[in-house]
This record gives sequence, C-alpha cells and structure tokens, in this order.
Amino acid sequence: MQRSRAEQGRILIIEDSRSLSSIMRHKLENDFFCQVTQCASADVFREVMQGGQTFDVAVVDLNLPGASNGEVLDSVIAERIPAVVFTADFDRDLRERLLQKGVADYHVKNNENAIDLVISSVVRLLGNRDVGVLVVDDLPSARTMLADLLRVQKFQVYEASTGYQAMDILARQPHIELVITDYHMPDMDGYELTRRIRREHNSDRLRIIGISSSADRLLSASFLKAGANDFVYRPYVIEELQCRIQHNIETLTQLRQLRVAAFSDYLTGLPNRRYFFDAGPAQVAGRLERGEPCCIAMLDIDHFKKLNDTYGHEIGDRVLQAVGTKLARRLEGSGHLLARLGGEEFSVLMLGLDVEAGSALCETLREEIESLRVALDDQDLNVTISIGLAEIAGRESFSNYLAAADQLLYLAKSYGRNRVYSETMLS
Ligand code: GH3
Ligand code: MG
Ligand code: MG
Repeated sequence: MQRSRAEQGRILIIEDSRSLSSIMRHKLENDFFCQVTQCASADVFREVMQGGQTFDVAVVDLNLPGASNGEVLDSVIAERIPAVVFTADFDRDLRERLLQKGVADYHVKNNENAIDLVISSVVRLLGNRDVGVLVVDDLPSARTMLADLLRVQKFQVYEASTGYQAMDILARQPHIELVITDYHMPDMDGYELTRRIRREHNSDRLRIIGISSSADRLLSASFLKAGANDFVYRPYVIEELQCRIQHNIETLTQLRQLRVAAFSDYLTGLPNRRYFFDAGPAQVAGRLERGEPCCIAMLDIDHFKKLNDTYGHEIGDRVLQAVGTKLARRLEGSGHLLARLGGEEFSVLMLGLDVEAGSALCETLREEIESLRVALDDQDLNVTISIGLAEIAGRESFSNYLAAADQLLYLAKSYGRNRVYSETMLS
C-alpha cells in the first residue's frame, strides 16, 4: 500500500502558548500520525537542535521568551526546515519579510480556524514531498524563481528550458503531477506543449498551469481551451499562485481517492467486481500473448444463508471480512488477482498457473478457510468454501471465463461442498 500522503512526518512546534501547542500536537499525532516535538522557548529550541534530530516541518511563533523578534525563525530557516509561521501580529511589511526569508506559509492567530489552517499547511507540506512538479521556461531567471518557490513548498522540482525537454522529462518521471509552463518559448510555445501533453496525459492524473507576462488577455482562454487547468499572469502574487497550485494537487488527490473507492469492496477492502473486470482482461491477454497459462477460480462460502439466519447479518459480515482477509494474506505477493465479486462470492485470477498448479493453490485456499476460526463472544465459528476452477485457454470474453468457473463451482457444490472442482475432473 502506498503511504498516505501526510503520514509519518517529524514536526517541530515552537510556541510558548502551552494550550495552542498542545492542541496542535494532539491533532498532528492522532489524525496524521506525526511525531511531534514541542519547544516553548528559544533555549529549548537550541537544546533540541543540539540533539541532532531532523525535522520535516516546523511551526514557528515569532514572539518567544528569549527571542521576541523572530530570531528562532531565522535559525529554523538556516537549518533548512520548512517553516509555517504562526503569528499574533501581522501587517504587509511582515508579510514581505516572511516571503523574503522563504517561509513556506504563514497564518495569523486571529480566528478560531487558525489552528486548523496551520495543521493543513503542515499536512500539505508533508504530502508535497511525494509530488513531482515540472517547470518549463526558456528564461533561466524566471524558471529558477518559480522552481525555488516550489522547493520551499517541498515539491520535487524538475526544470526544462524547452518544450521538447519537458516532454522528455515527463516521459521519464511518472510521478510528475503538475506542469507549470511559460507561453513564449523558441522551439514550441506553451500552448502547443499543453496540447501535446494532453494527447498522452489526462487531467485526472496530470495538471497543467500556464503562466506568462504577455499583455494578451486572450492567452489565458487559449491555454485553458488547449487543456490547461489554470492560468496565471506575471507578475503573480506568491500566495495566489501557491493556492492555485495546491488546489490542483488537492483535486488530483481527491480523484485518486475516488478511483480507489470505486474499485474497492466496502466491506472487505478487497478489489471489487468492477476492478476485476477492468484489470482482468488485460492481464489475461498479456499472458496468452506470451504463451503462458492462466486459470480462474470462483470461490463461494457454503451454506452462508444458514449462517446469516442463525447468527444474524452482522456476524455474517464479520465472517465475510475474515474470509476476505485470510484469502488476501495467502495470496499476498503472488501476483494473482483476488476480488470479492459480490455476496459470499470471491474470485481469483491465477496468472501463469496451469490447471494442475491452480488446483493445488485452490486446495490450499480451501484448507486455509476450513481451518479459519471467527471468534464470537461465547464460541468460535467456522465455515467452508467450494471452488470451481477453469483453465483460460483461448481468447474469449472475460465473463465467459468466469461463467465456466461458475459451472464448475456448481458441480463442487453438488458433489458435497468444501471441495475444489476443475475441468480435469470432468473426464
Ligand atoms: P451454498 O452452499 O449453495 O452456496 O448456499 P448459500 O446459502 O451459501 O448460498 P445462497 O446463495 O443461497 O445464499 C447466499 C447468502 O449470502 C444470501 C444473502 O443473504 C447472503 N449475503 C449476500 N451478501 C451479503 C453480505 O454482504 N453480508 C451478509 N451478512 N450476507 C450476505
Ligand atoms: Mg519565455
Ligand atoms: Mg454460498
């Protein structure tokens, strides 16, 4: 499983208000699994830094006992720790100074949402560590300025000075999720680059932001029509650009979560029928092309209706979860594709296995479930499964493969259940 984007950050909270500091610590530890170190003064901060620990993000108050003028912020930045400033006093001059110093973000202690805003800045910075961003601009000074801004936000930054170089980097770095491209470039303009990128990358996986110092007000429209997700005119307001970047990254995260949800079974967490039918056919086609064997198994819990009727639907659900977990554990790392098709039916697409090897694997799955005990308050429950196993020999529709396994499952049931039945047993 991919690490959830914010998990496992080491956070330094430098704040003399114990209550603020503790609320932030609590949220970061409990909701985002961070490791938090608190410093209530400049002295404690110095001690912590002498301990040699490293940190992913620091939340910094500007006014601390022993350092009432932002001195600790300077040390944090000198240590190259991304800083989120949390300050009671704020004005335009201070904003200017903070941006000059290279703080990642700032929030003002003037409303009840402020703590949540600080937390989301921290979490956002932790998440950005995994995100690749490509900056495309032929002008080195403009490109470096933007790239530095993105590095402060902890993105993995790539730079290209031409459209062709951008296409090349994009092809080699699949973790790039955002391209920020200039318009005026000698070999290929940003508009053409956007069109070419969109031929290969949809906007549900890769975002594009156009940027230009042109005075042409129509430029933004043509960029957006070519498939860019946003457009910014130079000179830009740093915070506005940061927000636009972040909204695009958030959209990708939400789309990814939706994809995962659409392809998983809610009860067991296994891949669902939709995923099975989506991913299965290509897997089979690849194996058939290489002349490798495959087979497909249908697994069905025996007398499950009776179990539901006797113990209730809730217990039935727990049994389904336990069976799903057990099957998943046994198949982990095997490369075979397990799914819950619905009700008490599961299926395994066994890639690279002929019927003989497939039967042996089915037999171990059957035994695993037979020996599984689901603990209730006063007793242990056990269930058995029947399995139909069909060989995938020629090209047919995926549902035909599954129908063949289903017919064999029917035979396994009629011969007494708790058994594996395959084609070879027909003769
Ligand atoms: P057989 O041995 O022939 O497979 O008999 P069976 O009782 O297992 O099969 P049948 O198809 O008659 O019944 C399946 C039952 O599974 C009926 C349905 O109420 C139950 N079921 C389907 N989905 C769920 C679920 O998500 N949770 C629970 N608890 N029960 C479910
Ligand atoms: Mg240019
Ligand atoms: Mg059943």
